[in-house]
Order: sequence, then C-alpha cells, then structure tokens
Amino acid sequence: MNEEMGYVNHIERFHLLPRVGQAIRLLNQRGWKAVVITNQSGVARGYFPESLIHEIHQRMQDLLKKEGARLDGIYYCPHHPDVGVPPYRQKCRCRKPGTGLVEEAVKELDLDTSTSYMVGDRGMDIEFGRQVGAKAILVLTGYGKGEWEYFRDQWKVTPDYVAQDLFEAAQWIVQQESGKSKILHPPF
Ligand SMILES: [Zn+2]
Repeated sequence: MNEEMGYVNHIERFHLLPRVGQAIRLLNQRGWKAVVITNQSGVARGYFPESLIHEIHQRMQDLLKKEGARLDGIYYCPHHPDVGVPPYRQKCRCRKPGTGLVEEAVKELDLDTSTSYMVGDRGMDIEFGRQVGAKAILVLTGYGKGEWEYFRDQWKVTPDYVAQDLFEAAQWIVQQESGKSKILHPPF
C-alpha cells in the first residue's frame, strides 16, 4: 500500500501509493472487509520502535479517511526468528507465511478465507494466500514487477490474477463476485 523505500523508519516516509484510497473505498462500498496483514521485522531488527508501527497505521487510516476509505483491521508481526533480542526475536506463529495473523483476523472480523482474496507484491504472498485457502492476486506495484518478471518460474503457485495495482485488483475482486464478465485481462 505504501511506496517501496526499504523499511519505513519515519512517519514522514509513509505515503499511500496512487489509487490505494480508491481501491479500499471500492471494497468498502461493496461490503467487503479490507484487512492488512504485514510482517514488520524492522522492529526485531532494531530499525524502529514498535510504537512507530502504531503511528504509521494511524497515518494510513487518516490518509485513507481523506479518500473516504477505511481498513477494517491491520495485523502485524514485529518478530524475527533469528535477529534481535527477545521478545522480538522468536519463532512466532504470526510471521508470514505463518498463519497466526490470518487466524486472528478470521476470529475477530468473522471472515471466511475460502471466499477471501489475498493481494500482495511477492511470490510468497501468493503462496501464502493459497495456503490459507484464499484466491491470490499479485500486484505489479512495489516488488511485484520484479518478482513477476524474474522469479515467477520459481513460484510453486500461479496467481489467480495479476493486477497493475491495488485498484485494478479491487475491481477484479468485485467483478468476480458480481458475476459480470471480465473486462480486465491478466498479462499472462
Ligand atoms: Zn510474529
């Protein structure tokens, strides 16, 4: 959702990508729950304090609100299995591809992963989506373009759809559900 600039280590480095507000608003309007699930090992690595994550999530919601959009939940893992000091250095269940955060979201927000979509910019996100029983969409923003161009041969699964950005992904999702014919075509 944010511009890819390495680790966001200051609140001012957080900006929404173009059309992210539109994407979330569309999902909100159609009655979808929009949830962010993110690994934030920068905490364990000592790049920034956990409090910054809360500030950034608040800023993300504020920026979305300006565009008439909101996230129903934001779940993050601050851990890393090998780096840093406890409690952040631990083999947790919440770090993706662990399913701890998804399970938490399912419980709190009454989700059904079999009718959910995972959208991400890494091959790992696609595998992760399938692993939890969701459909998986790759976006070509962030790491997506490079991942798709250079690494897709190595992926164990193929995305259900490849979208230019989150808005195109959101459009595809609502079209699937409304049963209309696709007007967008995946680039494969
Ligand atoms: Zn964790």
